[in-house]
Amino acid sequence: MQVEIDPNSGFCGGVIRAIGTAEKILGEGGRLYSLGAIVHNEEELARLQGCGLVTIDTEDLREMRDPVAGETLLIRAHGEPPKVYARAKELGFKVVDCTCPVVLGLQKKIREARLRLAPAEGQIVLFGKIGHPEVMGLVGQVDGGVTVVENLDQLRDRIADGTIRPYRDIELFSQTTMSPEGYARVREYLSSIMAGAELTVHETICQQVASRHRELAEFARNHDVIVFVSGKDSSNGKVLCELCRGANVRTWHIGSASGLRREWFRPDDRVGVCGATSTPKWLLEEVAAAIKNLQ
Ligand code: SF4
Repeated sequence: MQVEIDPNSGFCGGVIRAIGTAEKILGEGGRLYSLGAIVHNEEELARLQGCGLVTIDTEDLREMRDPVAGETLLIRAHGEPPKVYARAKELGFKVVDCTCPVVLGLQKKIREARLRLAPAEGQIVLFGKIGHPEVMGLVGQVDGGVTVVENLDQLRDRIADGTIRPYRDIELFSQTTMSPEGYARVREYLSSIMAGAELTVHETICQQVASRHRELAEFARNHDVIVFVSGKDSSNGKVLCELCRGANVRTWHIGSASGLRREWFRPDDRVGVCGATSTPKWLLEEVAAAIKNLQ
């Protein structure tokens, strides 16, 4: 078997920045709290926890009673709503903000859209995963008025139940890691049913994600079998793995090398190993080495 790692897979810029910052602080001997998993990859998370990173969640932050003056709290690349910063400040945390600049730009656009739309009761529609931390950070930028839809069916349902009103102006945004094809479907449908009001579409899918979509489909087509590596909570991982499966039915999804099965491979296969924006390069290399050892 030939085994090749996708040269375009591995952490995106936002995740590299957040992990690099965490490693620097931990390397200086400080203790570091991360609000939520710094990356949606269990293997990388375990490595960082071994270096002293402590992950807490928003409920921990809400429940904390004692001030924590001198402790450092890292905000991950997904970003957070303003109320989280206020709570961290109230507790006395020193906040290290690693929100990805692309996400910060999107948060700002949503705040500006809300100001534009409010006088005429216009609406913001966000194409994203309900409950995803980035989406919660985006929705929390404004005081209501954002409807989140994950797919075309949900969009139709929200129109049918009157939540989305196509006779009022709408500004449409996407979470940064959504599929460009899915966003195009939502945009086209919404545009076809607007009734005398204006639809403004914002191109907010991260360019690193959009270009990875194009390159990954090509990579999947050019190999006999694809091993896709990503954490179970990675929304980008689910989208990219489905993209590979659409281009190559022999696509297998694993979290680490222990998930590999010998029966997936034939002796003359050309195997492609790839992953999400949250999959570390070292893990792809470990999986590629394990596949070679199956022979
Ligand atoms: S996918 Fe893009 S927007 Fe999201 S964290 Fe990575 S670089 Fe930033």
